Amino acid sequence: MSDTIFSKIIRREIPADIVYEDNDVLAFRDLNPQAPVHVLFIPRQPMPTLNDATAADAELLGKLLLAAAAYAKQEGFAEQGYRTVVNCNEDGGQTVFHLHVHLLAGRRLHWPPG
Ligand code: 5GP
Repeated sequence: MSDTIFSKIIRREIPADIVYEDNDVLAFRDLNPQAPVHVLFIPRQPMPTLNDATAADAELLGKLLLAAAAYAKQEGFAEQGYRTVVNCNEDGGQTVFHLHVHLLAGRRLHWPPG
């Protein structure tokens, strides 16, 4: 797959406000936040979209969500609430083709989304 801006963030070639990392997952603040808290959780091992995930990726996908929930608890807004989102391809509004989970919090989020 082609390199993305997120691979450059993983390699520290461009700056990002990194809030969490482990062997599998990196999390950093979104450059264009849509809520007071807007953090992206990405796998170090890139895959373009959710469509590319296989059963072999089940643990990794779970780790992304668990890392997001752990961050929400650590930062103290888990009980108040938050939203996790994975955009996929054109109709999903995906713009960076390195799978990522958005974590949005800090305001009442509307449903259905736009
Ligand atoms: P998508 O639209 O693919 O679901 O989400 C991509 C997200 O990446 C967008 O919310 C966008 O603001 C964010 N983004 C794009 N380029 C950068 C960057 O260079 N740094 C950071 N921190 N976020 C970025």
